[in-house]
Amino acid sequence: MKSLLDVSGITAFYGSSQALFGVDLQVREGEAVALMGRNGMGKTTTIKTICRMMSHRDGNVVFDGQDLAKLPSHKAARLGIGLVPEGRRCFANLTVFENLIAAARDGAWDFARISELFPRLAERRDQKALTLSGGEQQMLAIGRALMTNPRLLILDEATEGLAPVVRQEIWTAISQLKQAGLSILVVDKSLKELTTVADRCVIVEKGITPWAGNVADLTPEITSRYLGL
Ligand code: ATP
Repeated sequence: MKSLLDVSGITAFYGSSQALFGVDLQVREGEAVALMGRNGMGKTTTIKTICRMMSHRDGNVVFDGQDLAKLPSHKAARLGIGLVPEGRRCFANLTVFENLIAAARDGAWDFARISELFPRLAERRDQKALTLSGGEQQMLAIGRALMTNPRLLILDEATEGLAPVVRQEIWTAISQLKQAGLSILVVDKSLKELTTVADRCVIVEKGITPWAGNVADLTPEITSRYLGL
């Protein structure tokens, strides 16, 4: 499988405080990769760096063969990385439909296809985002990322704080996206669901990535050592 995202040896800082000390991570075409680690280990910082919301000091972020640091922002933004950020940010005063259309770029994902994935969004098409439940807002955040017609979808804590039934709906949708061939990088706390959807896992600890491998190779020793489970 061809590599779509290749992160190698990145370091990143918040002011003078170093958060990443050398993160390596790969996502191949059509693959789902789980980025795992305890709180504060550097998962969100890694994602922010990939999405150019932060700059890295050392190392490289290469997407589809292009070094992101060398591209002007407008070009990097159009390469095809769709982010579902932590905290499901949507435009509160826009309707569901307006939120989706505002994110749209040419491609196979449009309102009709999002409605098939999340029928509840179609039902709430003309409601303002602020009137949606947490789960519906999360569906909308995923819908917005899909409307950009990404080649890589990145989900940061997409099921955080949601009721079990809604979480299951979100995981079902993520599985469907994976089956449809989308490449996915996902951060979440639910190990069981993560390992059901993901092909491979990368573990982040204290700003480095000490272990990466197939889901099948994730032993109890590894989950206990790095995830405290
Ligand atoms: P969580 O699961 O809690 O979101 P995480 O693995 O995503 O954790 P990060 O949010 O990437 O971890 O944090 C990595 C390190 O960077 C932590 O030590 C954190 O305290 C620090 N950090 C994160 N955001 C900031 C910030 N805005 N300013 C300063 N330090 C930060």
